[in-house]
Amino acid sequence: MPETIPVANPQAQFLAHEAALRNAIDRVLTRGRYIMGEEVAHFEHEFAAFLNARFCIGVASGTDALILALKACGIVPGDEVITTSHSAVATIAAIELAGATPVFADIEPDTRCLSPQALAPLISERTRAVLPVHIYGQPAAMEEILSVARRFNLKVIEDCAQAHGAAIGGKKAGTWGDAAAFSFYPTKNLGALGDGGAVVTGSPEIAAAVRETREYGWRERYVSSVAGMNSRLDEIQAAVLREKLHHLTQDNDRRREIARTYALAIEDSPIVGPSIFPGTTHAMHLYVVECERRNSLRDYLHKAGIGTAFHYPCAIHQQPAYDNRIRGCRDLKNTEAFYRRLLSLPMYPELTDAEVERIGDALRQWNSDT
Ligand SMILES: *Cc1c(COP(=O)(O)O)cnc(C)c1O
Repeated sequence: MPETIPVANPQAQFLAHEAALRNAIDRVLTRGRYIMGEEVAHFEHEFAAFLNARFCIGVASGTDALILALKACGIVPGDEVITTSHSAVATIAAIELAGATPVFADIEPDTRCLSPQALAPLISERTRAVLPVHIYGQPAAMEEILSVARRFNLKVIEDCAQAHGAAIGGKKAGTWGDAAAFSFYPTKNLGALGDGGAVVTGSPEIAAAVRETREYGWRERYVSSVAGMNSRLDEIQAAVLREKLHHLTQDNDRRREIARTYALAIEDSPIVGPSIFPGTTHAMHLYVVECERRNSLRDYLHKAGIGTAFHYPCAIHQQPAYDNRIRGCRDLKNTEAFYRRLLSLPMYPELTDAEVERIGDALRQWNSDT
């Protein structure tokens, strides 16, 4: 029995760049400045340059990045923010932690992201923002979403936690809306060795508001001009992220190469892979297939030593904490159909060619065996 291939493997990425990462961490340890030093400042510039964005502000997590972006966009208690029930729970948690009220729109079956058609009918006089999630690394239909948002004067905050390097027509996810939130959780396309996040924006006002709020509302040191909090990216994580950012483009290319092998293995089978749209760059954070008999497929792959996962086991409106209490939750036909069929295959750049072949063979074999 060959060794099991895990569905995610952040340690493999550490080992792939071990010497450089240890050097980066050591540099910070020796320098003696651990919070808000030059590593964070450099990383913010370098990540903004990578995205072709104007401002990047490092914060403590993707969840905090969403909260800070919402607040900086002027979202206040009582405001409604429209998003999808198909996301990490963090998306909805952040909306509620910002004091706002989430509303659920359905997804499109092909992008699996917020449906622009579902958006307009949900807009009420309390709606202030729309928060599309570029789920699995597939960019949401930003042009269509922005055109609805403009018509109704809504802010647009992108959840880019799974979409580092995704793009539409070369314009990166995170540069379409008023602000965007990134997570650097270890398994993300750009992952730290701990928690981290960033807000990205083209607006000097939003950038200034996030900078103040992430550190006690300080405009100058020890003087709180606005009510703030503590949500800083630390120097060690920033140094790690600077090192890993060098490899992000190549890593994303490798993810797409793996995806092409999977796509070939499942063509002419009842397993449906993610849609690939010409002109759109999928960041391939996760490779999620749809399959009527997904439990059979999962069991078969597990017996063949191939890890899988459900991202996620249930949609947010089906989780106990959010069950039945969020407007829009009764009209999520595409979301619910998708959740009955989804299954994630292993996806990370360090998968070897032999492992990818083994996974492809198992997918073909399941199809001919069943
Ligand atoms: C990971 C993730 C988040 C939250 O990021 P954290 O850094 O874990 O707080 C938010 N939204 C989506 C879609 C995510 O995948």
